[in-house]
Amino acid sequence: MAELKKIAILGSTGSIGTQALDVIRSNSNSFAVEVLTGNGNADLLIKQAIEFNPNSVVISDENKYQYVKNALTPYDIKVFAGNKAISEIVQMDSIDVVLAAIVGYAGLESTISAIKAGKQIALANKETLVVAGDLVTRLAKEKGVNLYPIDSEHSAIFQCLAGEFHNPIEKIYLTASGGPFRGKDTNFLRSVKKEQALKHPNWEMGAKITIDSASLMNKGLEVIEAKWLFGLKSEQIDVIVHPQSIIHSLVQFTDGSMKAQMGLPDMKLPIQYALGYPNRIKSDFTRFDFMNYPSLTFEPADVKTFRNLALAFESLNRGGNASCILNAANEVAVDAFLKDKIGFLQMSDVVENCLQKVDYIANPVYDDYVSTDCVTRIKALEFISNCKSQIV
Ligand code: NAD
Ligand code: MG
Repeated sequence: MAELKKIAILGSTGSIGTQALDVIRSNSNSFAVEVLTGNGNADLLIKQAIEFNPNSVVISDENKYQYVKNALTPYDIKVFAGNKAISEIVQMDSIDVVLAAIVGYAGLESTISAIKAGKQIALANKETLVVAGDLVTRLAKEKGVNLYPIDSEHSAIFQCLAGEFHNPIEKIYLTASGGPFRGKDTNFLRSVKKEQALKHPNWEMGAKITIDSASLMNKGLEVIEAKWLFGLKSEQIDVIVHPQSIIHSLVQFTDGSMKAQMGLPDMKLPIQYALGYPNRIKSDFTRFDFMNYPSLTFEPADVKTFRNLALAFESLNRGGNASCILNAANEVAVDAFLKDKIGFLQMSDVVENCLQKVDYIANPVYDDYVSTDCVTRIKALEFISNCKSQIV
């Protein structure tokens, strides 16, 4: 029997983390769990640990350490707490692949630490590349580490590139569902509530990415992610709205030929492809039926109404720490929207304001990203408290 690939799942209690465990459960002859980490949901982390019997678990929230420790005492599983512990544990010799599925900037440090230790990365945490794509991709190259994309669009591009890595890309098209507010105008968007924004038509995901999908910031972050993963210029990246979410993205080569990857929307497929690469593993995922989709449609993205996509392109073109500013401002804005502190459209105001106000750094090093993130969060919170009176 072939050796089991040993996986560390960072963020195992989230939407991607739990689906990754579904994939591993169905393929226990290929994969084993070496590390699990979670933040808030200690009970789920304990349940996962008992089922998958990892070497170690880390609970980020240090207040929950004793609770997790007590529950796992009867088992031969080590328990640690805090995000520093995650960054240390990813360097453990026995780990083959680190699946980075923490949400937001919080996933940056542990991913960098895993790359430094030469671990292969299955990357769901797109914010890592948005914040510090230059640093992260250079480090990965230096360490001979592959970044296997889990984001469905980037997995699609990666799958289209199989056998083509020596052929130059003319451009790529990232497809977008358009989210729950496709076709709506600013009047409508001004008063939408979080309950409406949290209902995505095609995908079930964590709260932050679901709001990002509704505001098109998710597609903006994905444009930046694609730039770093595939070494592209911003002019080579286009976004096309495709409401059925069947074509997951496309590559156009220099001879004009286009390759697309398609299938029903199910994150387990890109997760399994990233973990199993270069092999495709037989699965019983529901198969696509053409008769259920007599027409696949396409339309341009409305960047006037959904300003976040334009702001993401702007930050990409500015380079330096601009996308780090965009990301931090957006994380604060999404959190404020989810707490009913600002309206839907004001999320873009927060991002735009921070892009104007936070100092630009042309060639940032790691510490510059850390301070940019911190300063931007302060500026974003200031802006939010000043614009409070406008909220309906
Ligand atoms: P989620 O909110 O469902 O899960 C996030 C995980 O990270 C949880 O395990 C949580 O405990 C952990 N976490 C949260 N804050 C933390 C912190 N401060 N420190 C340490 N751990 C923390 O999110 P998700 O939807 O699974 O998304 C995870 C990542 O994958 C995001 O970057 C997202 O953009 C990306 N992604 C998700 C999907 C999807 O379908 N859900 C698709 C593509 C990409
Ligand atoms: Mg995606």
